[in-house]
Amino acid sequence: MSTDLPSWQESKLGTMKRTALWLVQVVGEGNVFTKNQLREAFPSVSQIDRRMRDLRDFKWKIHTNREDVNLGPDEQRFVQRGEPVWEPGRGTRPKSSITVSQRRELLAQYGYKCSSCGAAPGDTYTDAEVTAQLDVARREVVQPDGSKVAQLVIECNRCRVGGNKSDFDLPALIAQATSLPEIELSILRAWIEGGSRTFSTIETVWARYRALPFESQEAFRSSLG
Ligand SMILES: [Zn+2]
Repeated sequence: MSTDLPSWQESKLGTMKRTALWLVQVVGEGNVFTKNQLREAFPSVSQIDRRMRDLRDFKWKIHTNREDVNLGPDEQRFVQRGEPVWEPGRGTRPKSSITVSQRRELLAQYGYKCSSCGAAPGDTYTDAEVTAQLDVARREVVQPDGSKVAQLVIECNRCRVGGNKSDFDLPALIAQATSLPEIELSILRAWIEGGSRTFSTIETVWARYRALPFESQEAFRSSLG
């Protein structure tokens, strides 16, 4: 541990900076900590999870059981430290160039839902205690002419963190879609038209079949011949 770091208990520092120092000084790189340990270290801070997540914007690597299957649902691993956010002038995000009215327009355009998972603000995720919050996210999209353009989407906190960081390549996606068999392409068109994915009969039957008790599965199987 470096001795020239301020203490994580230094109350003059902001919560995110203190969380970074707590990771370095108490948890240690590579080690696992629990949500409770984090909350106990910062008992008076509400949404401490969120403050810690903000560190990812400064290249801190903190894994949950989404990224690391060896972790329990309440565990996270401090994989690697990022920018020294506690240093003067660090740890502040570049000011967003999006105006309030632009943000409002985008939210309406996306029907007040996350463009990736469809979560609405305040929704609770099925496997976590956190609620969804929507924000504007920037995506680099390769255009049909090959140029790369930054475009805006609405994304929830979870998709932002775990999310799809791969490139968005419009010509590649178009090529993939148009190479689908006609029957699949028409299903895709119907999903796009309806704004959501519907489950086909074959998928519904499959899901119900899977949920059947073993004996009934056998009866079902043999009845299909
Ligand atoms: Zn989402």
